[in-house]
Amino acid sequence: MRDDAIRRVVIVGGGTAGWMVAAAITRIMGEMPGLRVELVESEEIGTVGVGEATIPQIVLFNQMLGIDEPEFVRATNATYKLGIEFVDWTRLGHRYVHPFGFYGLDMKGIEFHHFWLKGRQLGDQTSLDAYSLAIVGGQQGRFAHPRPDQPKSPLSKLGYAFQFDAGLYARFLRRLAEGNGAVRTEGRIVDVERDGESGHVAALSLQSGARVEGDLFIDCSGFRGLLIEGAMEAGFEDWTRWLPCNRAVAVPCENGGDRQPLTRSTARGAGWQWRIPLQHRIGNGYVYSSEHISDDEATHTLLANLDGAPLAEPRPLRFTGGHRKRAWVGNVVAMGLAGGFLEPLESTSIHLVQSAIARLLTYWPTRNFDEREVARFNAAHLQEYLDIRDFLVLHYKATERTDTPFWDYCRTLEPPPGLAEKLAIFAANGRIFREHNELFTETSWLSVMAGQGIEASGYHPAADLLSDAETLSRLQHIRDVVSQAASTMPRQDDYLRQIGCDL
Ligand code: FAD
Repeated sequence: MRDDAIRRVVIVGGGTAGWMVAAAITRIMGEMPGLRVELVESEEIGTVGVGEATIPQIVLFNQMLGIDEPEFVRATNATYKLGIEFVDWTRLGHRYVHPFGFYGLDMKGIEFHHFWLKGRQLGDQTSLDAYSLAIVGGQQGRFAHPRPDQPKSPLSKLGYAFQFDAGLYARFLRRLAEGNGAVRTEGRIVDVERDGESGHVAALSLQSGARVEGDLFIDCSGFRGLLIEGAMEAGFEDWTRWLPCNRAVAVPCENGGDRQPLTRSTARGAGWQWRIPLQHRIGNGYVYSSEHISDDEATHTLLANLDGAPLAEPRPLRFTGGHRKRAWVGNVVAMGLAGGFLEPLESTSIHLVQSAIARLLTYWPTRNFDEREVARFNAAHLQEYLDIRDFLVLHYKATERTDTPFWDYCRTLEPPPGLAEKLAIFAANGRIFREHNELFTETSWLSVMAGQGIEASGYHPAADLLSDAETLSRLQHIRDVVSQAASTMPRQDDYLRQIGCDL
């Protein structure tokens, strides 16, 4: 056993991030001799209380924790999610879906969408949606797990995620973490004690007078960044100029029975509204720019656009889009909202916690904290944020809307340099390059670029390997296969009842 090994891990905060970290560390590192994992949280302060939609990577996280999926779905009131439907983003009255999984079928190693682009030039104006099983099945309220054992079926590459009650998920993870030995301490942290020589955090003082010492501190204290900013002064990079929304108002409402496995994002005059159908209710929220609408007006707009009676008082939230300049400083690593926040348009926050956990486990330090490794961790954190930011900005930038000052601002904003080039390459040749293993795949970029009306004037020359007639008949064949496969998927409600959910 190394004598410089980390022995005391202290997690600050018991929101979704804190309990994800506690569950993962105790699962992976729990049997390290002498390792103690302690989580400090304050019920009085509470959690942010939103965060219901996820992306497919969460399936792997749950598997890593050994979670039984039906048990988890029942415990968190979850529904399945096959993608996000964007309404009124391109122009009023328009809609498209960003699906999980893929479009089309295997096309001799060339990306399917080049044949779709060629088909458009030949006069076939069918929308991309018709080539995605996630979209066709999802819009019919159907869900099925992927079937890798059927490699020729579009079911083989279906991806899925969940929509759940984030509070119940945190509770579920807490049970797991405590079962694996994590210790929970209730109390408000009132002071952070630092070592005079190294500057590292040495201990936390609680209001009760208790003192919590640690070797490694994981800051999951939410937007306030109690340790990473309050003590270590990591600095925050503000991206409001690209992502102008800085407030939200959230309210759950009754679910009249519609459980499409799709999150919906409807563009509004000064932002957008989410709609997330869970088993027992629908989560709703208006994410907006305070420069362009008042809090009262935003709340009014939200309440006027619900599918059922509200189940609680509207809850206001304030945030700044951006990231902590260094997510790891000394012996403090920030995760969750303490590490940064990119608005929930593509449901990425919980995933960012998951990927930060994976990175921390890869770079698991000793008490010597190698600065070179810390720098690499921070560089990877930054790159991940940059990649997601560009994808989010795409949704705002590529709009035709001219109906409000907010959309005028978005349409005319100067895109980040990497994004401008990406859009230009797609418009010229239909090409999409996925860089540094970024989170969003070619399918994601394609769905939003095409969905928001960016026309590609060219396509991959190899698409001409199929004659014009073959291209059109192959496209028709794929649409038929997708439609037929969708009809074999059970309705999500039936599947949920089958696994014991009380709908
Ligand atoms: P919090 O939930 O704020 O938890 C902070 C914890 O720190 C709490 O336990 C608190 O008690 C504790 N704490 C703070 N200060 C102290 C102190 N002094 N002493 C003791 N304890 C303290 N993510 C998604 O993936 N999908 C979504 O659809 C989504 N939608 C969102 C919508 C909005 C409007 C917002 C704002 C966020 C959304 N998110 C979403 C993000 C998601 O909510 C968060 O990433 C997730 O909940 C993790 O939050 P957290 O645990 O970092 O912080």
